Parts: sequence; C-alpha cells; structure tokens
Amino acid sequence: MIESMAGLREVPIASQPIDRLIPLVGEEPVARLKAKADAARGALEGRRLWNVNSTALGGGVAEMLHSLMPYVRGMGFDARWAVIEGNDDFFRLTKRLHHALHGSRGDGSDLGDSERAVYEAVAQENAARLGEVVRPGDLVLLHDPQTAGMAPHLIAQGAIVIWRCHVGNDEPGPEVDLGWDFLAPYLEKVPVNVFTREQYIPDCCDHGRSVIVPPSIDPFSPKNQEMSDETARAILDKAGIVDAPSETAPVFTRQDGSAGRVDRQADVVRSGSAPGWDTPLIVQISRWDPLKDPVGVMRGFVRLLERGFETNAELIVAGPNVAAVSDDPEGKGTLDEVEAAWRRLPESYRERVHLACLPMDDGEENAAIVNALQRHATIIVQKSLKEGFGLTVTEAMWKARPVVGSAVGGIPDQIEDGVSGLLLSDPEDADEFASALERLLGDEELRAKLGDKARERVRERFLATRHLLQYAQLLERLG
Ligand code: UDP
Repeated sequence: MIESMAGLREVPIASQPIDRLIPLVGEEPVARLKAKADAARGALEGRRLWNVNSTALGGGVAEMLHSLMPYVRGMGFDARWAVIEGNDDFFRLTKRLHHALHGSRGDGSDLGDSERAVYEAVAQENAARLGEVVRPGDLVLLHDPQTAGMAPHLIAQGAIVIWRCHVGNDEPGPEVDLGWDFLAPYLEKVPVNVFTREQYIPDCCDHGRSVIVPPSIDPFSPKNQEMSDETARAILDKAGIVDAPSETAPVFTRQDGSAGRVDRQADVVRSGSAPGWDTPLIVQISRWDPLKDPVGVMRGFVRLLERGFETNAELIVAGPNVAAVSDDPEGKGTLDEVEAAWRRLPESYRERVHLACLPMDDGEENAAIVNALQRHATIIVQKSLKEGFGLTVTEAMWKARPVVGSAVGGIPDQIEDGVSGLLLSDPEDADEFASALERLLGDEELRAKLGDKARERVRERFLATRHLLQYAQLLERLG
C-alpha cells in the first residue's frame, strides 16, 4: 500500500467527491466549502500540498489523513502524504516528547543534548529526502512533534511550512515546558501553527501565528460507514470477538469503492468464552498507551461488579496489534502490563473481561472491525487520563452510541455532560466510572437519548466539511 519515493514512503491517496456529504450536511455547507476551495486552489496556482507524519496506520493522525485527503484531491488539489522514517531511539524520544506535551513524564528519560542530536539527525535525513521531491512554493503540512525538526530545512528550501500539533495539555507545567523547550527552536520560522484547542497553544507559538482546527471524521470511511447489525455480527464473529455465527458475509466497502471482507482474527486474551450476541458490551478501543488508562477501565468495571450491580455486561478493551504502529514503541510494554493486571483479577471477574488485539495487516479491515465493535457496543468508554482530542469518542458518537468519557483534553469539546454523553470529572476515580456505567446500563431510554444527541453533535461540528473549510481558509491566506 505504501510506495517508496526518494527513500521516503508515500501513502497513495484516492480521490473522493465532496458532494457525497450533501445528504448528511445539506447543500449549503458543501457549496460554501467548494467556493472557498476554488479560491484556495487559485491562490496555490498548481503548487502541491504535502502532508508529512510518522505512521500510515494506527492513531488519530493517520486516521484523519486517510479520511480527509481523498476529498482534498477530489476538489482538484495535488495533495500528497509522505511518512517519515526513524530509528528506535528516535521514536522512543518522540514518544517521550508526546508524553511531555501531555504533561506526563512517560519513561522519564532525558530531553537533552544527545536526544536533540538523535532528533536532528533523523529530521535532517527526512527533510533531505522530502527536499528531493518538494518544489519551492509547495505547502508542507508537518504533523506532530515527530516532524517539527524538518521545518527549518524545508523552509530553507523554499517550502511554505505549516506545523500542526494534535496533542496538548489543559494546563502548563514543568513537563509541558520541557517538551516545548525542546521543540521551540524548530518552530521559530514556521508561519502558521495549527492546534486542536486554544488551551494547547504554547508561549513559543504565539496566538497571532496559530489557528485552531479541531479534527473530524469521514462518515463513509470503513471506520464509520453505515453497517447493518447482521454485518456487524458477521464481522465480530469472524474476528473472534463475539461468538455469534451468522449467515451474512463479513463485508465492508473500501475507500476506493471496492468490496472488502474481514478474514483475519483478533488475538484475544480471555479466560472464559467469547460473549454471545445478546451480551451487553462495554468497549474501549485505543492504542495501548498508559494515558488511555486501560488498566483503570478494567478496575472501574470490576468496581461495578463488586458493588453487586445486577448485569450480564462484559468488558472489551481493544487496541491494535502491538507490532503494527511504527511510531508507538510503548505498545507492547503497555499491553503486557494490562495483561498482567488482567491475570490478577479474580476468576469470576476475569472471565468477563476480554483484551482484544485487532489485526492490522490491512488497515481497512481493521477499521471495519472497529466500526462493528463500536456499533455493537452497549456503551463506549474513553477513560483517558490525557487526550489531545479523542477521535474514538467522535466515531462512537457518530454511531449514536452513549459514550462515557473523561473530562480531559478534547473530550469535553465533544460531549456535553448528560446531553450527548457522560463526562467523568475525575478520570482516576473508579467509583465515578462505575456509577456512570451503572446509570447507563440501567436506563435504555437514556442511552438512546444520549446517542441521538451525540450523532447530531458530530454532524454539526466534526465532519469533513467544517474541517476542510478551515483548511481552505488557511491555504488561501498562505497561498
Ligand atoms: N484505532 C484503530 N484501531 C485500533 C485502535 C484504534 O483504528 O485497534 C483508531 C481509532 O478508531 C481512532 C484512532 O485510532 O480513529 C485513535 O485516535 P484518537 O484520537 O482516539 O487517539 P490517538 O491514538 O490519536 O491518541
């Protein structure tokens, strides 16, 4: 799927007509977007629009680029997507940076001169590779801390660079400062920085040069496309997540319009049998990252059972197969910790908790499994301790699921507590989490009401039309 380009990996982008969003958002927003896009295309005069990030698969940035870029192409822009290469030291260090920008210590390693040397060497190498194909005047959108170091090189070569940071922390603090001190020198000459939320703009990227663009989802991607209950059932049975044989084929539609099929199985850690189709499921789907608090999710579920609440619900904590997400070296260690915590659960609780590693060989097959799981879940949870935005929340809300999410980072921008989901004021409080589950499990009407509002909220704010309009405004300004 990934082609090599001057030693850099390029992810092919199909083209999609933006008109297909009309039935969902109406004529007017699409017409407004097209007019703005025409103006931006005129300003760009044929120059290309590059996106550069650090993985083609897994995590929110890759998800968003897969979703958005086909529409950008469909509107006549020459949009490209390149993925950088880095070594283990580099990705360990950038994960450390990622944690710092979230106000967390991660593995506690240094962010000093030798780390800077590793970072700059990789940045320079990737910038040199990209420099062979980027022309002066091309726009280059660099995503996240992994790519910031390339900015000075690309600017020197005549590219117009935008740096988009998808992470941030609600409050300043020593770790956050450490992260920004590391990155600041590379951002000095960047004309525009893009952040997900106002609160995330650091002092080094003053407000005059920064714009706010929240993420969005694509309702037609394999992750979010409509799916019947029967198909979801067939997919989840095929993937070994539920035990519910079906006559229906486990199929979905790929981004290029061709038929896809789920054939691979998830690796599921469980001690009992797979849940049947009628078993209510509480589901969290995330990368295996301590900030997503998978162990806390288990603890909260067990607290619900310990309280004696009558329920036959089971918990599924799902994430990608850990070998697959190239820019997240922590996945395996976190999964091992989750599994160890799971082993320590009393057997009667353990048999109701399933840890599922979803196959990642085919990103669209993975997405279809996530789609089916989100649709089938009785409750979706995102009990993150920190969260840049939380696309998993958007995805579940679009599927009209009741979501329990921590009131951290971008989650409260999405969920209005008690209206379009439930917020946890203290994400570390297992009792608060258990109470939210209890409230939802016991009230089908509330679940339906929250789910309906959730879908409307995403329709109004978090679909591609709004996102691309903001991009077009930015491009017109820079072009
Ligand atoms: N995701 C996935 N497969 C998995 C686990 C996660 O496709 O096994 C996707 C998830 O559906 C979402 C993205 O990864 O689209 C995670 O984005 P989010 O903003 O929630 O968190 P991030 O990983 O960027 O911290």
